[in-house]
Amino acid sequence: MKLIRWCIAYINGESTKEFSPAQILQFSAVALALSHFCILSMFLYARVYFMVAVNIGSLLTYVATFFVARKGNYRLFYLMVYIEVCIHIVLATLTIGEDAGFMMHWIAILSVLYMCCYGFRTMSDASGRFRPFVFNMISFLLFLALKLYCLFFEPVHPLADANIYHMFYTLNYGITLFSVVLSLSIFITQALTLHNRLLQQNRLLEKLSTTDTLTGLSNRRIVTNFFEFSAQESIPFCAILGDIDDFKKINDTYGHDCGDRVLVTVADIFRSCTRENDIVCRWGGEEILVILPDCSLPNARKIAVRIKNTLSASSVSYEGQSIHVTMTLGVASSDEASDMHRIVQIADNNLYYGKRHGKNCVITSELAG
Ligand code: GH3
Ligand code: MG
Ligand code: MG
Repeated sequence: MKLIRWCIAYINGESTKEFSPAQILQFSAVALALSHFCILSMFLYARVYFMVAVNIGSLLTYVATFFVARKGNYRLFYLMVYIEVCIHIVLATLTIGEDAGFMMHWIAILSVLYMCCYGFRTMSDASGRFRPFVFNMISFLLFLALKLYCLFFEPVHPLADANIYHMFYTLNYGITLFSVVLSLSIFITQALTLHNRLLQQNRLLEKLSTTDTLTGLSNRRIVTNFFEFSAQESIPFCAILGDIDDFKKINDTYGHDCGDRVLVTVADIFRSCTRENDIVCRWGGEEILVILPDCSLPNARKIAVRIKNTLSASSVSYEGQSIHVTMTLGVASSDEASDMHRIVQIADNNLYYGKRHGKNCVITSELAG
């Protein structure tokens, strides 16, 4: 029951199960062997022993193709299947006539052809050419030749019972339908799986290209994007630019690794003191820029003070030592200038005013004068 539900989902293109080209071809070999087993049984029932012998040969061919598929030799696999199918169609049609519908197998074989082509092109070395056009042309010309032959000559072993022709036709129709549905199901599943994988990889790449690897904060690209967007939509915002006080001394005293640890802790504090839709960006070495969309200057100042106080109240432990870190922050609002870069520059000027006036403080343009 579970298997049937899975098959229906697979045919509907709703399964996420991805098969390798070798697996697909191995399955094709098994399916082809099974269909030949059914054809063999029908010929046995119709007492056409010559075709029974031919089908025993076909079965043995598909046992061999299974192992060829397992080795990933798609070219040989297809050549074996193609030659077998052509010989079988010609012999079966010459023996019992075209009414049994064996010529439909040239349509069924198309699915195997394109699956081999898919397997070939997805192989990393993709050695050699595999051209479906050539095989399609051969099939079509053989079909025309056989059709013409049947127009003028009678089959070698015509069947007396018309019902057996109907049974053969139905079986061959079923085999053809099964091949086409199976191959299209495989293609839709493979295509959707590839599509989803590409989307995932794109999302990951986008995240990597906009994230600072050390702190996990956004990088400048996100701020640039925001500036472009807010210029179009004229969104008011405030900017807070923070710079760690005497960071060089921390590096010199405790080492660069400790400096990195401090940066990660500072980044965490910035994240915890801001809202989900604020942009927290590592602007430079030890400078962090926060963009607060739709935020008033007094509120932005409050957030900056909260960051400063949280940081000065906490300490970073490194190799058994407790390191005290402070930060100076400059705040600016989009009301102070129309150019985005000028707003960050104002926040920077306010920050350096704070550095010159004792550090560990929050400065707005009002205070800097
Ligand atoms: P001030 O209080 O005036 O800001 O003094 P400061 O020592 O913090 O300022 P300065 O700009 O002189 O030093 C910044 C230091 O930050 C210098 C640089 O080596 C260090 N730095 C920049 N990026 C990183 C980083 O990714 N990791 C570490 N550990 N240090 C960094
Ligand atoms: Mg500094
Ligand atoms: Mg600095």
